[in-house]
Amino acid sequence: MAGRDRSVKIIGETQSVCPECLRVIPAVKVEEEEGIYLEKMCPEHGNFRTLIWEGNRESYEKWGAGMRPADQILKARPSEKGCPLDCGLCEAHERRGCCVLLEVTGRCSLRCPVCFADAGRGEDISLEELGKQMDFLMEHGGPFNLQLSGGEPTMREDLPELIRMGMEKGFTFIQLNTNGIRLAEEEGYAKDLKKAGLSCVYLQFDGIGDEVCRVLRGRNLWERKKAAIDACEEAGLGLVLVPVVAPGVNEDQVGAILKYAVSRMPAVRGVHFQPLSYFGRYPEDPGTYRITIPRLLALIEEQTDGTMKAEHFTEGNATNPYCTFQAAYLRQDDGSMKPLTHGAAPRGRVSEQAKKYVEQQWSGAKTEKCCCKGNEPETQSCCGESTEQMRLDTSSLDEFLTKRHNNTFAVSGMLFQDAYNLDLSRLRRCYILETDSRYGMVPFCAYNLTDRKGRFLYR
Ligand code: SF4
Ligand code: SF4
Ligand SMILES: [Zn+2]
Repeated sequence: MAGRDRSVKIIGETQSVCPECLRVIPAVKVEEEEGIYLEKMCPEHGNFRTLIWEGNRESYEKWGAGMRPADQILKARPSEKGCPLDCGLCEAHERRGCCVLLEVTGRCSLRCPVCFADAGRGEDISLEELGKQMDFLMEHGGPFNLQLSGGEPTMREDLPELIRMGMEKGFTFIQLNTNGIRLAEEEGYAKDLKKAGLSCVYLQFDGIGDEVCRVLRGRNLWERKKAAIDACEEAGLGLVLVPVVAPGVNEDQVGAILKYAVSRMPAVRGVHFQPLSYFGRYPEDPGTYRITIPRLLALIEEQTDGTMKAEHFTEGNATNPYCTFQAAYLRQDDGSMKPLTHGAAPRGRVSEQAKKYVEQQWSGAKTEKCCCKGNEPETQSCCGESTEQMRLDTSSLDEFLTKRHNNTFAVSGMLFQDAYNLDLSRLRRCYILETDSRYGMVPFCAYNLTDRKGRFLYR
């Protein structure tokens, strides 16, 4: 950057956007004592600087060392205007989709101060339109892991029908992104969703107790969160707890969330942390303090008394390594957690394998009978197995595999990008996509990108 003090160490270059006007501008990665910063300058709006890594250059580069070669995108559109303006996906994109978000409604039962979608004012999308979007996904590399999102998808009365439609169109893993209120309040609702074919619930879960809910979600929700987990457990639905981690709000809750999640195994399959990003309804400038991957891993280690150590985590490099972290544990008979991952990412895990991993790990607890226990005998085919087959499935290998599945616990996270820390080389490797009839498939961080005033690029 012009005028830079040359004693400052520039360790990399990329492209980003101006948080004021979203124009694409060059950016540099700079090493300083506290960590690595992304710095950029808009000719019109001046300089911007944000923390992207707490640690030295060596630790930063080691984390990114396992970068995979680019994927070939199926039916890509031409790249004309340049990234991030050609999403759809365009031919410059480097990762196929793993999880695709399908927004089914703009309505919501909450009005969270930190909503990335700025939801609560829109309407339901028609079943017909959603069917078309599903067809588009199947024609462009599907089936993906389909995440029903919003708004709050449970606001729709026809959600079971929508799930059935997804199954009929060939999606094999359907997740529900939810605040859990309806699951908690409506008797039999979780079972109805499970019967329709839902694979997993992605439950907004920011902390233990009501205080954090009041700050991040605007009301007390703790009793409902517990009741939602109870309902899913009874229905045989796997859950992943999804905390947004906000500086100064719930950084001290990381360990408590993990301990609670482990106590609710096997219904709870894992925790997926999402440090607060500055887009949607909360586009304010974060200043130079941010929760980075090293910081979150340090919080996990400190607050689980070293049971879950930073060194257990890998970058899970199906996407860009600086987007994610993950570890897996096996609960032992004495209750201790044995790490199944260590340091370097599992080699060769690309989008397809990541998709399968999520499908296996986040599915509900297995039982030696049927996950749909409680159903009438004539309807016991929802696992794809007849009652007769299940009676025969009592070998010790099956018992071993069931036990292993039920005792495996995943901890992961995603560091979303906003207008301050956006790195276009990361964005091109995105495999979390939003589907939109106007564009096709748009990487999540491009779809939700907002300028400082909250104006979206794509929404
Ligand atoms: S994010 Fe991907 S699809 Fe979108 S413009 Fe950039 S390279 Fe193309
Ligand atoms: S959603 Fe954002 S943080 Fe996640 S993989 Fe895509 S670009 Fe990276
Ligand atoms: Zn600008």
